[in-house]
Amino acid sequence: GLPPYDDGNIFARILRGEIPARKVFEDKHALAFHDIAPQAPVHVLVIPKGRYVSVADFSTQAGAEEVAGFWRAVGQVAKQLGLEGQGFRVLTNMGADGGQEVPHFHVHIFGGKRLGAMLV
Ligand code: 5GP
Repeated sequence: GLPPYDDGNIFARILRGEIPARKVFEDKHALAFHDIAPQAPVHVLVIPKGRYVSVADFSTQAGAEEVAGFWRAVGQVAKQLGLEGQGFRVLTNMGADGGQEVPHFHVHIFGGKRLGAMLV
């Protein structure tokens, strides 16, 4: 099963304003900020404000308004960053095999260069 949500995780601390982040977007449902170790010219993380461990948790437990609000935020961030024309990549890691490091659901938005084909 899924692990319980840990309120001490780093993204929970960013949501509470306990540690700084370079925010690019915020509304009722979501927060977006630059990744601290960017892997592309544009590398932004989008997180829901609710307490969800991963995409599995979010997809099965969040309400329809939260799910819609989160994905609307992803689209708004891409538009705000000027990525729509050239394209971009959205990715989420889940659990141990997925390489997830921070146990608060997030999607990565990568852009700003021609990205290579996915290896897996
Ligand atoms: P994951 O492997 O969980 O999908 O990726 C977590 C991401 O969060 C990594 O790309 C990592 O660089 C980023 N990250 C980890 N700690 C911090 C932090 O304190 N601030 C920011 N802005 N990004 C972080």
